[in-house]
Amino acid sequence: MTLTLEAAVALLRRGEVVAFPTETVYGLGADARRSDAVARIYALKGRPADHPLIVHVALREALADVATEVNEAAHRLGSAFWPGPLTLVVARGGDLCAEVTGGRSTVAVRVPDHPLALALLGAFGGPVAAPSANRFGAVSPTAAEHVRADFGDAVAVLDGGPCVVGLESTIVDCSGPSPAILRPGGVTREAIEACLGHAVPVLLTSAVRVSGQLESHYAPHAEVHVARGDAADALARTLAAHRRVAVLAPVLSDAARGDGVLHVFLGSTAEAQARELYSALRRADALGVDAIVVASAGSVEGLGLALADRLSKASAPRS
Ligand code: AMP
Ligand code: MG
Repeated sequence: MTLTLEAAVALLRRGEVVAFPTETVYGLGADARRSDAVARIYALKGRPADHPLIVHVALREALADVATEVNEAAHRLGSAFWPGPLTLVVARGGDLCAEVTGGRSTVAVRVPDHPLALALLGAFGGPVAAPSANRFGAVSPTAAEHVRADFGDAVAVLDGGPCVVGLESTIVDCSGPSPAILRPGGVTREAIEACLGHAVPVLLTSAVRVSGQLESHYAPHAEVHVARGDAADALARTLAAHRRVAVLAPVLSDAARGDGVLHVFLGSTAEAQARELYSALRRADALGVDAIVVASAGSVEGLGLALADRLSKASAPRS
């Protein structure tokens, strides 16, 4: 079901759910002030109720409507990176429903950098809770057809084309005395540190339950293996002795070629890989392979850190 901006706004006003594009991934949005609306998101995703949602607003200034005691670090980061792929965790305020923050005293807030998302948020005029528009634990959607593949007619989708960043936002916890990165994402650690003028730790395990922190997450059906260069070729051939394998890489080398080895294109720069990873994982799954080998540069600089994080989650043992 495709829909217009006006129809999407009307759905939000009625407490219904709409999927909309952002620069990171597609979001599954609902009025963040209404318990009944937010409950629909959790039910559709199959997401545990203690996993809080990111609240999206149209303007930096709207942070004051959903938060209190916003500190200097949060102000600086918001001014530098909003609209953009950065989520700030701050003390909650305003008239958000309890469910949107999973009952906690902090809220995660973002101003997305996408013309359709900003038009939707602006026209709606209130905070919109939106996790990624996929079923819980599955690969995030970076195109409208990915949302339709997961939800069919159950969710109306505003189609804004493919997402330009392709990985989720960076989450920075600014609710305490010193900021910390809870999830690496579209804004690099280096850029955050340059903005704040000091080192910022990356806390990949914390007492706070963050959905992106579950070990196996962002995972396709096929098992995922990550390997560098020659190792990826050798691994693909070994796995193909038993099963059908997809290799995600810029090209399929002669060394990787063999019966049962299929090639799925993945660009060579960190930016291209971030943008294309999720759709490449979905394409490999659609080919019906048993295993996916991702040829990765393995860098943890710049966007490489977020890529490495998502790849380690996609390849983690499944529960
Ligand atoms: P998703 O939209 O599925 O990418 O998930 C949103 C992310 O924001 C999840 O990892 C949440 O757990 C995280 N998040 C939302 N609210 C908070 C909060 N108050 N404190 C820490 N993390 C949060
Ligand atoms: Mg998600």
